[in-house]
Amino acid sequence: MKEIIAPLSKMLSAGEISSAELTEKYISAIEADNEKYNAYVSTTFDKARKAAETADKMIADGTATALTGIPMTLKDNICSDGDLTTCCSKILRGFRPYYDATAWTKLKAQGAVMLGKTNMDEFAMGSTSETSCYGAPLNPRNTAHVTGGSSGGVASAVCANIAAYGLGSDTGGSVRQPASFCGIVGLKPTYGAVSRYGLIAYGSSLDQIGVLSNSVKDAAIVFDSISGVDENDQTSVDFDFGNIADSLGKADVKGLKIGIAQEYFEGINDEIKTAIFDAVKFFEDNGAEIVDIKLPVLKQALPVYYIIACAEASSNLGRYDGIRYGYRAENFNDVEEMILKTRTEGFGDEVKRRIMLGTYVLSSGYYDAYYKKACLLRENIIADFEDIFNTCDIIIAPTAPNTAFPLNFKGASPVEMYLSDIATVPINITGVPAISVPVKNDSNGLPIGMQIIGRKFSEKTIMNAAYFFEKNGNVQVDNFEGGVLL
Ligand code: GLN
Repeated sequence: MKEIIAPLSKMLSAGEISSAELTEKYISAIEADNEKYNAYVSTTFDKARKAAETADKMIADGTATALTGIPMTLKDNICSDGDLTTCCSKILRGFRPYYDATAWTKLKAQGAVMLGKTNMDEFAMGSTSETSCYGAPLNPRNTAHVTGGSSGGVASAVCANIAAYGLGSDTGGSVRQPASFCGIVGLKPTYGAVSRYGLIAYGSSLDQIGVLSNSVKDAAIVFDSISGVDENDQTSVDFDFGNIADSLGKADVKGLKIGIAQEYFEGINDEIKTAIFDAVKFFEDNGAEIVDIKLPVLKQALPVYYIIACAEASSNLGRYDGIRYGYRAENFNDVEEMILKTRTEGFGDEVKRRIMLGTYVLSSGYYDAYYKKACLLRENIIADFEDIFNTCDIIIAPTAPNTAFPLNFKGASPVEMYLSDIATVPINITGVPAISVPVKNDSNGLPIGMQIIGRKFSEKTIMNAAYFFEKNGNVQVDNFEGGVLL
């Protein structure tokens, strides 16, 4: 996959194009293509034009950085001052936050140009983006298929080249899985590496802002810019990652220990299994050492995730009461009825299901049997991953058990949908980083993604391995032909 950010940045600094002109190109491409993909749910073109002017000044006066003047998008759950941010839920209809998420503050300071907010599963709950109140975004690789979720709109826009890159959120796979379905790169950083301030909460102990881009280098440039401790997020961590983008391409994979867990390949479609094993063979041929590891705890990851995520969601979503934000029901006799009606009318079915599940597992009488047990099992899973990383540097696994489903395919069964998250949720439970990179297309022409997982704060290691594979590993997924092409 070809890089987008560095070449655009070079064109901007060489004066071949101005940010104002580049931004107009993206705006025209969105106007031409967004109806096809339903990627953007709101646009901020006037602000983008102003940001482009500022960026052009930065370029002229020598204060530009790698991201100055480059048009991008934010998932509809990342706050930006004064812009619609609705989590694709009726209950946040019309909501405009009055502050910026820290990750966005950092990009804005560098002169990034935000084009608008992109589609997602309602409150980031889902794996296809079909629970959005605006209807599902479509997969540019084949519009009869879903983008994956929940950051499906970002994945669709970045794949279709109607955003150079985007920020999403990953609570149980929502950056990596849509990246895999759309044939792009998705980075889920270590928990705490990127501030969550201004990311609308789903499951706070699992949520993390991540990057969707067309190449590993693009993801590294953005990660370098948004990571870091933040006084507004007490769970953010002060860790010096160095300049990861600059480190790429300077190391090979000789001696890199790659853990392979058979448990990760159970129930995975054969074409995906073969594609990932071929990729592992590539690493081995280049001097990496393959280590067989055992991860029996993977079986527990899915129930643990769905109990903890729903419990936290039921608490986090208590604030949508019709008083403080967005939508309020009409016709009520008292406050209680107003709250009841607002929540009944404002939340979609999947969100209601999770609030009820979460309330149930937290209720007295069931707390010990479900929530507490899940928390204890979570500790076991974390300990097992820590042990495993004493024997290997990275783990390679599929990103998802399948490629992009046809639209409406999983609609009937929520549990079947939850099962498709098996490969991504352990990463959020343990808080480690992982990156999904495209490998090849399946026999239907839909991209297959591979996950490279590392120990906490090993972003440099996983991105270097991913970069090495992307550059030398015979990747058979190309950048999408459409939108703004270089
Ligand atoms: N698919 C998972 C869920 O529905 C993950 C979502 C996410 O990462 N936001 O909870």
